[in-house]
Amino acid sequence: MSLSITSRCIHCDTCVPVCPNRAISFDGAHYRIEPRLCTECAGYYDTPQCEAVCPVGGIVRTPVSTPASSRQANRTRRDVLSSP
Ligand code: SF4
Ligand code: SF4
Repeated sequence: MSLSITSRCIHCDTCVPVCPNRAISFDGAHYRIEPRLCTECAGYYDTPQCEAVCPVGGIVRTPVSTPASSRQANRTRRDVLSSP
């Protein structure tokens, strides 16, 4: 899972220096989190630091659809469809 920055962001820059993985960047218009770099701070902190420091609640957890979870969802759908 990764975190995402929403439209609530007020561009305060507080989250950038707290990220241990340098996963947060500003492209001149928006702040964004690179999902390949975000580890939810695992190995550094117990909680996602960007989410903790954002003054407007502008950072949210984003569920990622993995192949395993998709397979499980498909199985569940098939079970529902095949049940009497
Ligand atoms: S959760 Fe941690 S690693 Fe991910 S973007 Fe926020 S500060 Fe960086
Ligand atoms: S801390 Fe929140 S409001 Fe500030 S730049 Fe990061 S996401 Fe935007």
